[in-house]
Parts: sequence; C-alpha cells; structure tokens
Amino acid sequence: HGTIIVQVRAAMLGEEYIVLLADDRTEITRTEEIRNDFVANVSHELKTPVGAISLLAEALESSADDEQAVRRFAKRMHKESSRLAALVQDIIELSRLQGASVSQEGKAVDINAVITEAVDRSQLPAESKNIRIVVGERVEATVFGDRDLLVTALRNLIDNAIRYSPENTRVGVGVRSKDGLIAVSVTDQGEGLTPEDQERVFERFYRVDAARSRHTGGTGLGLSIVKHVASNHGGEVTLWSRPGQGSTFTLRLPEMESQDAPDTAGVKEP
Ligand code: ADP
Repeated sequence: HGTIIVQVRAAMLGEEYIVLLADDRTEITRTEEIRNDFVANVSHELKTPVGAISLLAEALESSADDEQAVRRFAKRMHKESSRLAALVQDIIELSRLQGASVSQEGKAVDINAVITEAVDRSQLPAESKNIRIVVGERVEATVFGDRDLLVTALRNLIDNAIRYSPENTRVGVGVRSKDGLIAVSVTDQGEGLTPEDQERVFERFYRVDAARSRHTGGTGLGLSIVKHVASNHGGEVTLWSRPGQGSTFTLRLPEMESQDAPDTAGVKEP
C-alpha cells in the first residue's frame, strides 16, 4: 500500500513529518473509500427490489387473464415496493445524518416523551408477534437534541428487538440517569449475537442473515442510523448480547442540566 511505503521511507530518512502527511492522506483516502463503498452498496441494495418490481410487472402484463396469478403478482409487487420505500427512506435519513450535528437546531427534549412515542409506534409489530413491551420505572430527564431523530433511533432498537425475537417474549425498555448521562436500554429475549457479529452490526448494510433479513423486512441500515443519531447528540450506543439468551442495546446521551436547579455557584453563605 502507498502509505506503508511512504512510512517505511520516512522511517529510513528519520523524517517524522512525512509520516504525518501520510496519515492525513490515509484519512482522506479512507473517507473516499467509505463513500465509494456506500454508493456501491446502495446501488446493489436498490437494484434488488427495482429488478423484482420490473419482473413482476412483466409477469402481470402477460397473465392478465389469470385472476389468481394477477392477485399473487400484485401482492408481491406491493411487498417489494414497500421494501424499496423503506430502503429509500433509510438512505435519505442516513445521508442527512452523516456529518451533521444537532448543536444548532437542537431543543430541550423530554426523554420520557421520546420513550412513550417510540413504544406507541412499535406496538403494532409487537402485537403481531404477541410480544409485550414492558417499560421500566421512569426517570425525569431532558436531553438536548432533535426529538424526531431520538424517536427514530429508539424505535429502530425496539423494532429490532421485536424482529429478532420469537413470539410470546418480552421486550424491556429502561431508563437510568448516571454521571450526567441518560441511558435508555432496550432488552430482548431474542436470538442474541455472537461476539463477531456484535462488532459488525453497526456497519451499514451489515446483516447476520441477509436472506432472512430480507424476509423480515429490515433494510440493514437501522443500527447505522442509531449510531449516527447517538454521535450527533454527543452520545453513543453500546451492545451486550449472548447468543440464545438475548441482547441489550443501550443509548447513552448527555443529560441537560435542569433549568430549575438553583444555581449556587458563586453564592456566598450569609
Ligand atoms: P436490519 O434492517 O437488517 O435489522 P440493522 O442495522 O437494524 O438492520 O441490524 C443489523 C443486523 O443486526 C440485523 O440484520 C440483525 O442480524 C442484527 N440485529 C439487530 N438487532 C438485533 C437484536 N436485537 N437481536 C439479534 N440480532 C439483531
């Protein structure tokens, strides 16, 4: 690799600044590589549903007399176009998030309102698998940021917990405040993830089981979006999991200091 050669030559010459230059170049090349990978992946991912819709449209045309076939093809077309819509929405969301920061447009957001909205919106998929979403004890807390993005992030975690869990299980949503951070966690009794997969699930389009994921309706971008929302808010998302037991995803965000708290700094005792 070009960089390594430059570094070796720099080492021979003992000139440290060349190494620094090489590092800068590496950074730019890496950003470019990531962007190129993203474009390649997006093209690949879009081609699948678009190709399927086009084939199904052809099949529809040629089987206009067969009512049953028409219904079957139309149903599959509907499914593929929903997949395409979800994919386009996630791609737009992710590209909007990349490199953005909420510092200018942010507002004080009540974390409980975020939890309530995310849980409400995930109720339908949960009911279809007879999964109960259990919300733990609430903590009054405010974070600075974008309410809609925070709901999207938490919803992605809850939807995944439902998607990768068997029927008749529970999904727990908990919130804690510690050391100036608000931690919102989503725990499932699902299939869990191996240590190798745990390292990779936040990558764009990474799926443990691509074929099945297509079937279950994921886009492969959900956790990537969560990661970006977390970092845009100055926070992080972490994962604990054991295969066969379940997973816990935790979103940690800096807590806003309460505006009602008395400001005692600089106040002298009478
Ligand atoms: P997808 O749209 O495929 O769900 P994500 O980025 O949300 O994409 O997740 C990436 C992959 O991580 C999923 O395909 C799945 O294999 C795995 N995964 C995510 N959440 C969980 C979970 N709660 N339990 C087990 N596996 C999960």
